[in-house]
Amino acid sequence: MKHADVERYSRQLVLPQIGKAGQEKLSRARVLIVGLGGLGCPAAQYLSAAGIGTLGLVDHDVVQVSNLHRQILYGEADVGQKKVDVAEHRLLHLNPNCRVLACAEKFSTENAARLASDFDLLLDCTDNFTARDAINSYCVTAKKPDVFASLYRFEGMLTVFDVASGAGCYRCLYGESPEAIQNCSEAGVIGVLPGIMGAMQALEAIKSITGAGEILNRHTLIYDGLNQTVRKFRRGKKPDCLVCG
Ligand SMILES: [Zn+2]
Repeated sequence: MKHADVERYSRQLVLPQIGKAGQEKLSRARVLIVGLGGLGCPAAQYLSAAGIGTLGLVDHDVVQVSNLHRQILYGEADVGQKKVDVAEHRLLHLNPNCRVLACAEKFSTENAARLASDFDLLLDCTDNFTARDAINSYCVTAKKPDVFASLYRFEGMLTVFDVASGAGCYRCLYGESPEAIQNCSEAGVIGVLPGIMGAMQALEAIKSITGAGEILNRHTLIYDGLNQTVRKFRRGKKPDCLVCG
């Protein structure tokens, strides 16, 4: 490890759960973030800062003024620009050692394998059933962890879908009812909430890569920001699931 890296990562290198071995695992890790909105922005920042070797970014959108209250990689001057381009620039400014591979495409079942095959782990930072279902199907087939978060007003949900855990997949939890899911523009969201949940996704990714702690792959965590409560529920596999059953 270079002297500059020892200094840069010193506060996490002293952690017994990370150490030099964990930091080297992070530097070899390849993480794909799908969706660079409220969840993807803080997740990308913390993963880049932590020293992830390769960070893939997938998002087809451009920055809009209504994004700025929660999508903290972007500023007023970035409105109209592609999110992946602005994000790549900001992340390289934050940590030039982290390789960023930006892709301005919409993640789908058609391009999933092409976009994700070079990565070990995916973060689902999207906000719609179609994209989430495509990420889930790919991760089940490729046996890769899908670090998932979702938002509803003041409430966030977090889990890690990993078929190896035996606790099922996104479809086991949600079934096939996309109409039941509202996105932030329909339901509304407090801007801090995706910051909290995206940071939690980054933490689960770091734990998964380094082996630190217990991965949230058998439970669903519900964070209620209005009352500052956190609840965890055990989740299970549906024997008749069309994706992982
Ligand atoms: Zn399933």
